[in-house]
Amino acid sequence: MSETRNYDITILGAGPAGLTAGLYAGRGGLKAAIIEKMMPGGLVANTERIDNYPGFPEGISGYELAQKMEQQTRKFGAEIISAQAENIISEGKYQLVKLSDGSTVKSRALIVATGAFPKTLGVSGEKELLGKGVSYCAVCDGAFFKNQPVAVLGGGDSAVQEAIYLAGLVSKVTVIHRRNALRAADSIQKIAFANKKIAFAWSKDILSIEGSSRVSGVRVMDKQTLKEEVIPASGAFIYVGYQPNSELVKGIVNTDQQGYIITDDKMATSLQGIYACGDVRQKLVRQISGAVGDAATAAIAAQQYLELNA
Ligand code: NAP
Repeated sequence: MSETRNYDITILGAGPAGLTAGLYAGRGGLKAAIIEKMMPGGLVANTERIDNYPGFPEGISGYELAQKMEQQTRKFGAEIISAQAENIISEGKYQLVKLSDGSTVKSRALIVATGAFPKTLGVSGEKELLGKGVSYCAVCDGAFFKNQPVAVLGGGDSAVQEAIYLAGLVSKVTVIHRRNALRAADSIQKIAFANKKIAFAWSKDILSIEGSSRVSGVRVMDKQTLKEEVIPASGAFIYVGYQPNSELVKGIVNTDQQGYIITDDKMATSLQGIYACGDVRQKLVRQISGAVGDAATAAIAAQQYLELNA
């Protein structure tokens, strides 16, 4: 299909940032397309509980929040196109996004809201046992480990939050961390420390994920004693951070060494007409509230750009 569809603005990604950019663009009267290869919602949709997004004092499930955001965005007229963006071509004042079905989405402004994806550890057994006990998504896979022991690898907000979620399903969760202090927020740490089903293996280097047909444990080495042991686990949930989904704009806009897109305070990238918001952008803190704030700025700035360069 070589069809070309014209929009005022194209948004890549339908996580909280992309959906919010679409909401603002639609509400501002722009013809907006949001391109998403998966279900709208992004990583948030796989988060069991969110208790730090304002307006939900009792907390809200990530799935429900994502659905509400999608509903609100659609209400203001943004179109969500279910497709994989394969290539971006900057042609004069137009940005062309080539989709996997051969069609093209053409607009004068583009907002990149493609988020980030889980980092892998790169240890033996991780790739081989993926889907056989190795997982990057507790909400998706936790139920397979009912009444069994699991390990969570990492010590940040994601690791500790998902350990708390898993503790509600499994017999025991061991959080394996490379230091002797967690990176996660204090409030999350407190809940985890108070949970009798959660144990901590401190200052451990992760050597491998063990198991022949399924995960049976995680081999670690104590950093002080250099002693090796296998921590028994039927599941290994890996939460060692994220990396940006910025391949599509590599070489088109400036990124930092890790691939995060560099923007100014209007969320403008190094190329006129291209904006970035949410987790794909270089910044200090990655939170949903920050992503939606970025997105509102990006959409308003992009609209001003379109008006000034009509
Ligand atoms: P993160 O904050 O980057 O934490 C990654 C964790 O993995 C750290 O504890 C790190 O150890 C560990 N790690 C990294 N590489 C490792 C390796 N090679 N071997 C062993 N351990 C390794 O990632 P995140 O927890 O996914 O959070 C990402 C962002 O999302 C953060 O900004 C976070 O605040 C945000 N987030 C917020 C919430 C919330 O507010 N509820 C929930 C989830 C995520 P060190 O501590 O030693 O560096």
